[in-house]
Amino acid sequence: MELKNILAYQEVDKKLFALEQSLAKDPNKQKCNQLNQTARDSQVRSGQLEEQASAILKEMDELQKTIASTKKHGQELLKLDPETLQEQELDEAIAKKDRVASNLIALDRRLTKLAENINQVLSDFNRTIKLYNEAKAQYQKYKAAYDAKLAETQPKMEALKSELEKLAKSVDAKTLDMYKAKRADRIFPVFVELIGNACGRCRMELSASAVSKLKTEHILTCENCRSIIYSKD
Ligand SMILES: [Zn+2]
Repeated sequence: MELKNILAYQEVDKKLFALEQSLAKDPNKQKCNQLNQTARDSQVRSGQLEEQASAILKEMDELQKTIASTKKHGQELLKLDPETLQEQELDEAIAKKDRVASNLIALDRRLTKLAENINQVLSDFNRTIKLYNEAKAQYQKYKAAYDAKLAETQPKMEALKSELEKLAKSVDAKTLDMYKAKRADRIFPVFVELIGNACGRCRMELSASAVSKLKTEHILTCENCRSIIYSKD
């Protein structure tokens, strides 16, 4: 395998790779990703809170109906004239009135509890919406910073890509395909020199048989990092 041309290609590609990495690891870009995630989470959360609020409101509505009918029942009991009742009927009416009164107290407590719950849900909802809006506003700021870097970097990348296209013409197709496949898997540099008896990329020591294989075949794929090791000897 003729390595000179692919190594020249890789030298230029190294600059492109570095620019790609600097874009991928750009702090503004990472901040944008984080803020996007926050905005998405807030959206999901606000949807859940809306559902909770509507369930609580429905329960409050039903409770108020129950309270109204219980009160009505209590008023009907009050209308009874004790003079017209037998002793036993009077005892029953008093017992019913007591039950209605204690029911009303329990229903009222439940209603107060639900009112507290709905206030909590509404304040969570407002906080979530605020978080969402803040994330959106901040996103714009970091996005503008990243876009500025992108605008500055892209022409450099384009220039390198056209330089690579020219250099690719002098590399045989099989070698170039292999190179590009490794590159796509983020194995970079693709070709590394043997340093001592170790891979020039991951520094893993090769076995004696691997070294002798490398000497005869000139290249060898590193078992550890998948780079292609070459030897100048
Ligand atoms: Zn390696």
